[in-house]
Amino acid sequence: MDFELNEDQRLFQRTLREFVEKDIVPVASEWERTGRYPTEIVDRFRQMGLFGLTVPEQYGGLDLDRVSFALVFEEIARGWMGVAGVLGSHSLATWMIAHHGTEEQRAHYLPDLASGARRTGIALTEPGAGTDLQGIRTRAVRDGDEYVINGTKTWITNARHADPLPVLVKTSEETPAHRGMSVLLVDGSREGLTISRDLPKLGYKGTETCEVVLTDVRVPASCLLGGVEGRGMQQVLSALELGRINIAARAVGVAQCAFDAALAYSRQRQAFGQPIADFQAVQLKLADMATEIQAARLMTYWAAVRSESGAVASEAAMAKYFASEVALRATMEAMRIHGGYGYSQEFVVERLYRDAPLMAIGEGTNDVQRLVIARALVQGTATLGW
Ligand SMILES: Cc1cc2nc3c(=O)[nH]c(=O)nc-3n(C[C@H](O)[C@H](O)[C@H](O)COP(=O)(O)OP(=O)(O)OC[C@H]3O[C@@H](n4cnc5c(N)ncnc54)[C@H](O)[C@@H]3O)c2cc1C
Repeated sequence: MDFELNEDQRLFQRTLREFVEKDIVPVASEWERTGRYPTEIVDRFRQMGLFGLTVPEQYGGLDLDRVSFALVFEEIARGWMGVAGVLGSHSLATWMIAHHGTEEQRAHYLPDLASGARRTGIALTEPGAGTDLQGIRTRAVRDGDEYVINGTKTWITNARHADPLPVLVKTSEETPAHRGMSVLLVDGSREGLTISRDLPKLGYKGTETCEVVLTDVRVPASCLLGGVEGRGMQQVLSALELGRINIAARAVGVAQCAFDAALAYSRQRQAFGQPIADFQAVQLKLADMATEIQAARLMTYWAAVRSESGAVASEAAMAKYFASEVALRATMEAMRIHGGYGYSQEFVVERLYRDAPLMAIGEGTNDVQRLVIARALVQGTATLGW
């Protein structure tokens, strides 16, 4: 058993770390406070080829192994979780197009998506349906060689930049409902597609999250992902498995940043004539944080490796569930160690504390992850140990 990153992964990690230290860390707090869009960071993502993380090389992508994929999100989230969102849903959507798209769709979209000339996201959630995706109300009705789409999507990350935006729709009223669901690739400039508002958020700033209204939006039938109706639910669920590894890695990055800040602060903050790091109560917190973060990291890389060889519903769910809970605890503990200063916007832990909860919600809430894990255990498909 080898717990080391290989040479390429280590080099890649070092490159990412240097980029984050130089181009993200110095601006993150200021840009998040002022609500400035991180254009220069997005340009650097383009230059580094990061929009092509999950795109096959034949279409100009990096087609990274899954551990390297996790490293990208861990390192970026260590600098600023908000900007990891620019790449997160983009990478899920490009993976979905690469794996489920027709050859025509792949050739049409993937080269530009890999270079970042085009960007994308993924539109599943609706005002009345998030966890219960089979309850969506967005409909696409076939009209000759076109589909006509009507509905509202909400909480859509990257919506203002997505072109195309993959939209989960109902194409028939079949039961069970998932049989009547499909994904349509909707170009951003289609008439009737409106970004109706940006949703105000606790954290995860730097990436827009919007409500999207589709009113009689007409798209050619060739926009049906994979060319066959009724496969949408299976297509998005497979992408969400990759998404859980991405969220787990982001959680590890946020937790690590919280730990680094807490350790540094505890060494320099004096109380009762000594650094607070000398107090055993503070040391116990640091030890718990470090142990949990390392366990979350191992679990994330484990799920990433396992996902190379096929479906990993329970592994990805375990990693996402555990790592996001660790991030919640670590950011809270870092705040405690900072005392009053942890509550100040002048210290990074305040932002980390606001960014952490999203990881417990996005890509399926943690209660849903626990249900996924339990189902796999009961059905006998989950792996515990080796
Ligand atoms: C910042 C942000 C960005 C997002 N980006 C995107 C995006 O790009 N694209 C996109 O499509 N969506 C996006 N989402 C939406 C996100 O995926 C949903 O919020 C999430 O799936 C939960 O859905 P919901 O909010 O409708 O909650 P609900 O489904 O209403 O859940 C509410 C509560 O009920 C619980 N619950 C629901 N069903 C069950 C059940 N069967 N058993 C037990 N408990 C249950 C949940 O665990 C939760 O605690 C984003 C959300 C946020 C906050």
